[in-house]
Amino acid sequence: MKTISRRKILKVLGAGGALSSLGLAGCASQGVVSGKAAAKIVVVGGGFGGATCAKYLKRFDSNLEVTLVEQNRQYTTCPGSNWVLGGLRGMGDITHGYGDLNSRYGVKVVHDTVTAIEPGQRRVVLAGGQSLSYDRLVVSPGIDFRWEEIEGYDASVAEKIPHAWKAGPQTKLLYDQLRAMPDGGTVLMAIPGNPFRCPPGPYERASMIAHYLKTNKPKSKILMLDTKDAFSKKGLFEAGWAALYPGMIEWVPGSSGGKVERVDAATRTVYAQSGMDQHKADVLNIIPPQRAGQLAQIAGLTNEGGWCPVNQQTFESTIHPGIHVIGDSSIAGAMPKSGHSANSQAKMTAAAIVAMLKDLPVISPSHVNTCYSLIGPDYGITVAAVYRLGDDGAIAGVKGAGGVSPTDVPQQFRTQEARYAEGWYASITQDSFR
Ligand SMILES: Cc1cc2nc3c(=O)[nH]c(=O)nc-3n(C[C@H](O)[C@H](O)[C@H](O)COP(=O)(O)OP(=O)(O)OC[C@H]3O[C@@H](n4cnc5c(N)ncnc54)[C@H](O)[C@@H]3O)c2cc1C
Repeated sequence: MKTISRRKILKVLGAGGALSSLGLAGCASQGVVSGKAAAKIVVVGGGFGGATCAKYLKRFDSNLEVTLVEQNRQYTTCPGSNWVLGGLRGMGDITHGYGDLNSRYGVKVVHDTVTAIEPGQRRVVLAGGQSLSYDRLVVSPGIDFRWEEIEGYDASVAEKIPHAWKAGPQTKLLYDQLRAMPDGGTVLMAIPGNPFRCPPGPYERASMIAHYLKTNKPKSKILMLDTKDAFSKKGLFEAGWAALYPGMIEWVPGSSGGKVERVDAATRTVYAQSGMDQHKADVLNIIPPQRAGQLAQIAGLTNEGGWCPVNQQTFESTIHPGIHVIGDSSIAGAMPKSGHSANSQAKMTAAAIVAMLKDLPVISPSHVNTCYSLIGPDYGITVAAVYRLGDDGAIAGVKGAGGVSPTDVPQQFRTQEARYAEGWYASITQDSFR
């Protein structure tokens, strides 16, 4: 496959008008594939990956017929959901509709659940009975849980003991339980091994819960039982916890009995390390191990590890050609499973699809990811990275680009990063949904 330079990618991503640099302006004006009717692209899943991809497909070629299928009428973002738990935001602040994708860009939005994909017929089947044909399909169904991994914890138990790892009613359930907990209570979080959605997410969550407890129930404690021995931005989080919440948060690594193996919902007790350690808590937040979204599994897009192998230049499935898998479900080299990654992959995939439909060279992608975390309302930290496609076909981090927030900086620096976190949220949701 031919590749072209990073400068040209940036031009494409910077403005729809720069499509001429790739020869894609011709697509926009003609809107046809080889003299045939406009190509039909179906995008399944209206999260950070799918919504962004649908929008940018139309921006790159306004004459494409783009249909976004999303099962919910509104999307509640996981980014910001920890801030809701901390009392810094309301649910309305993190909930977005799809109206702009239709009115501003002409994306057709269908609210239904895709129950099957028929790659041979190039068709998706909807729960409502309709089926949609496509020339290319983009799938961004997020994650699902490996319910079999923690005894006693499944989808029905999660209705009482939340994971809150898909934002919405689960966030509200955990929020309500934290508000109902007595002062002096214990909140227990169980944290999975890698890979999982949002590596710094559990630790930001502990921070935001600690902020709420410090303000409202200061005798309370947070116990984090982790499958891992290390985690994203660990030094920065621990320094922040020591500064803001001394003695409130205890983190237990996997090697010291942190891996949760069983949950007894009736007594709100968890068992770790083959039943040797048991912990009872007032509020339990169990984040189970994860795999690609259920649709990816049903459609046979996953490998034995439960995630979707793709050509990391185009995000086209290596199992089913013609189907692109982006976002958390995909195996994207060194990129973490984040909303920012999904957004970046979505744009590169949209550019690749438009190029492929016109039989033009596919650009060699450059990606970016930034994950801000709030430890307190005025205490932000960040990790950022730039990624390129390596010669081996895998996406790898660019050495010397990005990094984590410095240590030993004045409070003013942390305050500024907290404001940047809010700015990041505003701009990524603008870019994905409006
Ligand atoms: C607590 C928490 C905090 C986070 N904070 C951040 C952060 O600060 N920054 C960041 O970059 N990332 C963050 N993330 C990660 C981010 O939320 C995910 O990486 C991102 O949502 C992945 O996007 P996606 O498109 O792959 O999946 P999703 O956003 O989950 O979207 C999948 C969509 O597909 C739909 N869908 C699934 N199956 C079907 C079907 N069969 N038919 C129709 N529709 C379907 C779903 O309804 C959903 O809307 C956080 C995650 C959590 C849990």
